[in-house]
Amino acid sequence: MIRSVDDAEDIHAYLKMFPRLLSRASRTCERCGRHDALVGHGTYRRWFITFGFKARVRLQRLRCRSCGTTITLVPPFMRSRSPYGREVVTAARAARARGAAVYTLPASLERMGVAVRYATIRSWVAEAA
Ligand SMILES: [Zn+2]
Repeated sequence: MIRSVDDAEDIHAYLKMFPRLLSRASRTCERCGRHDALVGHGTYRRWFITFGFKARVRLQRLRCRSCGTTITLVPPFMRSRSPYGREVVTAARAARARGAAVYTLPASLERMGVAVRYATIRSWVAEAA
């Protein structure tokens, strides 16, 4: 399962709060509802790419001692199954909504500091349409 780290407003705030994520996290399991059941279950790294930032970022995992489910604490600006941050997708869709041709979007995003394949951008724009 995924639990959003809602108070992380951007990657820099998230990296700063990461060392305290485990100690601050609610220990109530969202699957079985048991209190004081969640314990640290290690971390893993994921690529995260946004304007002015590209690096592998650590995510904290929790495990329920009662039902065994695992929960990953994920900041809200990260997307599932993609390294690109929400603001990159939003920028591409906004440019398209203003009338920019899809083929111009890779160069536009690259000028803003993020290189994204044309096919990837095309899928973002198609999902929004
Ligand atoms: Zn549980």
